[in-house]
Amino acid sequence: MVPMMVVGIGQCSWDYLALVDRFPAEDTKKEVLRWEEQGGGPVATALVALRRLGMSTRFHGVVGEDPAGERIRESLKAEGVDTGGLLLRPGATSQTAFIVAEQATGRRTIYWRRPSGAPLGAKELGPAFLEGARFLHLDGLMAEASLHAARGARRRGIPAMLDAGRLREGMLDVAREVPFVVASEEFARDLGMRAGGEEEFLRRAEGMFPGTFTVTLGAQGSLTRTPEGRVFHVPAFEVEAVDTTGAGDVFHGGYIYGLLRGWELLSTVRFAAALAALACRRPGGRAGIPGLTEVEGFLSRRTERPES
Ligand code: ADP
Repeated sequence: MVPMMVVGIGQCSWDYLALVDRFPAEDTKKEVLRWEEQGGGPVATALVALRRLGMSTRFHGVVGEDPAGERIRESLKAEGVDTGGLLLRPGATSQTAFIVAEQATGRRTIYWRRPSGAPLGAKELGPAFLEGARFLHLDGLMAEASLHAARGARRRGIPAMLDAGRLREGMLDVAREVPFVVASEEFARDLGMRAGGEEEFLRRAEGMFPGTFTVTLGAQGSLTRTPEGRVFHVPAFEVEAVDTTGAGDVFHGGYIYGLLRGWELLSTVRFAAALAALACRRPGGRAGIPGLTEVEGFLSRRTERPES
């Protein structure tokens, strides 16, 4: 298959990871089982997933003038992500995160610091930022650039996805411009999704997200509402999850991959769930992201499982 170009605009981070057997009580000490460093950030990690599946990718974002910034850039380059749109903010610090993951359950707590430099501005994207793009992926954090990019993609007929992690200013404006919104549970709860009322919430949210709308629910899988109003559930695959950091980011990468391949929506979401589940088997957001052959092999062994 000829690689297709996915352009991503968003956060990129340098993550310090501590794996523990169980989360400790407050105000105690805890010895860690593993200590690692990796690149992170929703869009950046989604692009890494797409690269491992064989797509071409270009990333737009900002780093500071510090070792974390250098590592962020190198970690993307090592995966073959085009970092031509990754701007250096002189004298600034990069985004970093300290993540504690609980090996027994794969749950994680993230402490993060935003970059000290200015967010990417719309003008800094340049006139040709969508050149060659078959898909645009956004996390909506850099509101001005994200909105500008989403509108540009719409005008050119390029499909786009918003990874809606947390409800922030400008996020709903971006959401209205894109045909795919794939949101976290936290985002949906902030907009009024209640336990037991998930499906009803997805239907009710049609005014805000008229395109395809998916909410990921961690180990509970995901719910998707199609533009025609059909809602379906895709369960999470059972794996030995040691760290779910980046599961959502990888899920977005797999989702975009399926859409680019022209698969129907259910197969696309199922593929995304398999990719994300496999990535949960190793610590950090990126170490466990598999290649295409591994996901296909995994899915072919699981075809007998019911969809919901
Ligand atoms: P986020 O990282 O944005 O909070 P989620 O935790 O909702 O995202 O995870 C995204 C997707 O990854 C889920 O819909 C599910 O398919 C998969 N996933 C998450 N946690 C697990 C897990 N423990 N085991 C298997 N798959 C998982």
